[in-house]
Amino acid sequence: MIATRRQTVILGAAALTAPLLLPRGLFAQAAATPSAAGTLPFLTPVEHASMMLTLGGQSILVDPVGGADKFAGLPAAAAILVTHEHQDHFDPDTLQALLPDGAALIVNPAVAEKLPETLRSRATVMASGDTGEVAGLGIEAVPAYNTTPDRLQYHPKGRDNGYVLTSPDHGRIYIAGDTEDTPEFRAQSDIDTVFLPMNLPYTMTAEQAAAGVTEMKPRRAVPYHHRGTDPATFRAALQAAGSETEVVVLDWYPDSGNPTGEVPA
Ligand code: ZN
Ligand code: ZN
Repeated sequence: MIATRRQTVILGAAALTAPLLLPRGLFAQAAATPSAAGTLPFLTPVEHASMMLTLGGQSILVDPVGGADKFAGLPAAAAILVTHEHQDHFDPDTLQALLPDGAALIVNPAVAEKLPETLRSRATVMASGDTGEVAGLGIEAVPAYNTTPDRLQYHPKGRDNGYVLTSPDHGRIYIAGDTEDTPEFRAQSDIDTVFLPMNLPYTMTAEQAAAGVTEMKPRRAVPYHHRGTDPATFRAALQAAGSETEVVVLDWYPDSGNPTGEVPA
């Protein structure tokens, strides 16, 4: 266990000093999503798997990739979480550009091995099952992996992370990472908000996500990382199963103009 109590204290103190890049009014504007999509008060979707959570007044970036320009106008991060090594989740240059002095960088062990030395010395490594605190939030690393035989090569069991953050204001937030509806996924309990990947062939189908969520019973479910899948398919499957979970559809592909996130050829 590397995320010790001592590190927690250091990370929390450092996070408080992270400067804001923009006044709050401008940040609120940046957080607005197109009218066709819903909103979540603590979330700024950036693209695909990249997002910013604003919890307890602090910014947490998840899987930032694609260059610092994609994050222009967002507040400086108190912490950055990386789920795994694929290029739509892990981009060392973007991390280097976006990680302020004193901010926390939390990665799975395989990503730690791939970090340049300047970042590796700053990283907190969490393997699935590890728990800690960051920026005043509880954090737990949880498994993310494929279970369908012809998808096992993408995310082998034991390598990659999802994260569950516990926020005093917004409850337990489960960022599932690249996973299928594994037993551990289905067994998550007391989840307020789950972020669900549903693109093929890398993660799961909308129907798998709906079946898993029906068992998990989170308060709300947010499709993300869904290029090629229309979240409406997930919503319909969940409704058909009689689930009471609220589905929040957001615009994760601002440049697409297509509900599946694919850019028309
Ligand atoms: Zn992946
Ligand atoms: Zn991915």
